[in-house]
Amino acid sequence: MESQKQVLERLRAAFQSGVTVPLQFRLTQLQSLLSLLEDNETQILEALHKDLAKPKFEAVLSEIDIVVNDLCYTISNLATWIQPSYVSKNLATKLDECFIRKEPLGVVLIISAWNYPLQLIVGPLIGAIAAGNCAILKPSEISRATERLLAELIPKYLSQECFAVICGGAEETTSLLENRFDHIFYTGSQAVARNILRAAAAHLTPVTLELGGKCPCLIYGNVNVLAAAKRLVWSKFFNAGQSCVAPDYVLCTLEMREELLPAIVKALATFYGSEPRQSVDFGRIVTDRHWDRLTALLAKSQGRVVIGGDSSKEDKYFAPTVIVDLDTSDALMQEEIFGPIMPIITIESLDQGISIINRMEKPLALYAFSDDSKIVTTVLERTSSGGFCSNDGIVHMTIPTLPFGGVGASGMGSYHGRWTYETFSHRRACMLRSWGLERIGMLRYPPYTESNLGWLRWATTTKKKSWGWCSVM
Ligand code: NAD
Repeated sequence: MESQKQVLERLRAAFQSGVTVPLQFRLTQLQSLLSLLEDNETQILEALHKDLAKPKFEAVLSEIDIVVNDLCYTISNLATWIQPSYVSKNLATKLDECFIRKEPLGVVLIISAWNYPLQLIVGPLIGAIAAGNCAILKPSEISRATERLLAELIPKYLSQECFAVICGGAEETTSLLENRFDHIFYTGSQAVARNILRAAAAHLTPVTLELGGKCPCLIYGNVNVLAAAKRLVWSKFFNAGQSCVAPDYVLCTLEMREELLPAIVKALATFYGSEPRQSVDFGRIVTDRHWDRLTALLAKSQGRVVIGGDSSKEDKYFAPTVIVDLDTSDALMQEEIFGPIMPIITIESLDQGISIINRMEKPLALYAFSDDSKIVTTVLERTSSGGFCSNDGIVHMTIPTLPFGGVGASGMGSYHGRWTYETFSHRRACMLRSWGLERIGMLRYPPYTESNLGWLRWATTTKKKSWGWCSVM
């Protein structure tokens, strides 16, 4: 079997040969990736069910269709994206050709998490291919069935010279990271992200970090409680709460909480029936270890369970659980929950809700529910988060035109649609100089004079328009 080093050398040689550069090569590979998804939908759904008991409906929407849409969008637009962008110039460079050329970075490493094991590999891969890179893919070892399927299918559909899957966990990833890559795209926990950054620092490798955190849902003012409860329950308990953008905790007034709780009970009963454990539409916790962590977290909480709370290790079931009467010092508020437990913290004012959010690390997503657009705007303007969505959860990440990524501790960089292509491209600043305008060009040469300095400044200074914007000619 080839060593990691040999795989990397093979890909590096392919990249150096220039094979990935022509638009036609990129489009053919993207088309093959689309065929991989179309030809193997049944196997993919089976693997996702094996890993997470992912309901077909959720898997189709959040693993297959989301990347198929991204692929189609990229295939349709790539010919435009790869065009150089011409920039404005000043008088001294008027005859020159000044443009930004998007170039591939080289051999990139994509490391991903287990909760959306297909989407989180294929999504970044689309941009890596589109931008003309070679890529090593390192799926999560925890979602084993999907990891194996990717290792089997990727070489069948994509160029083996340019793309490879390396399987394994912490040990294999650590040794892989000893090599020099041209970019590392990592999706996973904040703890492991620190290792990734340390390893990248040794080679000064640029990194994209797609991390998690605690995504708040602030509900304030009048809302359609039944609709709000349905949207909240759907976005929280989708994939059994194992979504990086799931609402992690709810902030609302006591009055709102009392209205919301019966509406949540109703929504849960409508979605999953009286016994969610029997519902084929409710997923499972990925491993025993993750189930143990959630059980311990719930046990440590000082809050009062008002819905759910039951679980069974045998089938890694954890009931949709709602917990109240807790404050921000509670165990459930110290780490990302990443499971079907929803704490509701009561607040007395909008200011208090905003200040709770702002005291914590910047989240990956922030949700504000209110009929009053002024309240939504206030939350938007006074907080920071990777993404923002009002009156719903998760859906802002489903359109490829919005960049998806974190800020602060929830990540750096972004992707989806054109943003993935940009992430894996180098914007090379190019100036093709003419021999003309030498009368201006020669002003810069010694011996320096005050007069030449004056003319040069006139010819090169960015002019400020009266209404405040700067422009060059
Ligand atoms: P993880 O950090 O345990 O694992 C992610 C990847 O890192 C896996 O491929 C794993 O093999 C590798 N890895 C694990 N330990 C390692 C180590 N010591 N050194 C090097 N590599 C190592 O993360 P996870 O549990 O798989 O994912 C859960 C986290 O990911 C949550 O915080 C969630 O919010 C976040 N997440 C973020 C996004 C996003 O798009 N922002 C998406 C999904 C998940």
